[in-house]
Amino acid sequence: MERTLAIIKPDAVRAKNAGKIIDRIEQEGFSIVGMRKVQLSTQQAEDFYAVHKGKPFLPELVAFMTAGPVIVMALEKPNAIQAWRDLMGPTNPANAGANTLRKLYGTDIGSNATHGSDAPATAAQEITFFFPELK
Ligand code: ATP
Ligand code: MG
Repeated sequence: MERTLAIIKPDAVRAKNAGKIIDRIEQEGFSIVGMRKVQLSTQQAEDFYAVHKGKPFLPELVAFMTAGPVIVMALEKPNAIQAWRDLMGPTNPANAGANTLRKLYGTDIGSNATHGSDAPATAAQEITFFFPELK
């Protein structure tokens, strides 16, 4: 079993697509081991995306991620990190395959509906960030 951190971003929450995304998560065989709806502060968003410090898109990303509530989830499944990234599709919805979450619910590279951890170390760090009570 493996765990990953998933976020339904403010664009998808605002558009009322969260239920459809959560339904899809369950259909695809993930277990939701933690879930919370949170309004991120600027500080929290900057801390969460510390890996992107210095990148030109960071201020835009932080503004976007704090524009409204997000739904954060810890998901469990064999090979969960890659499985969730496959279900999301690539960062830019324009490049995403049919039936991926970013194709269905994303708008552009900034407003792309969901987040997923990219490796075991970052998954552990991101899950602890939002769910310190897990593990
Ligand atoms: P995420 O980390 O959200 O799952 P990702 O791993 O596919 O997405 P990253 O490279 O980690 O992509 O970038 C984090 C987020 O920053 C992206 O999801 C996207 O919303 C935003 N982003 C990345 N590159 C750009 C860009 N060139 N312009 C605007 N926003 C960007
Ligand atoms: Mg990433």
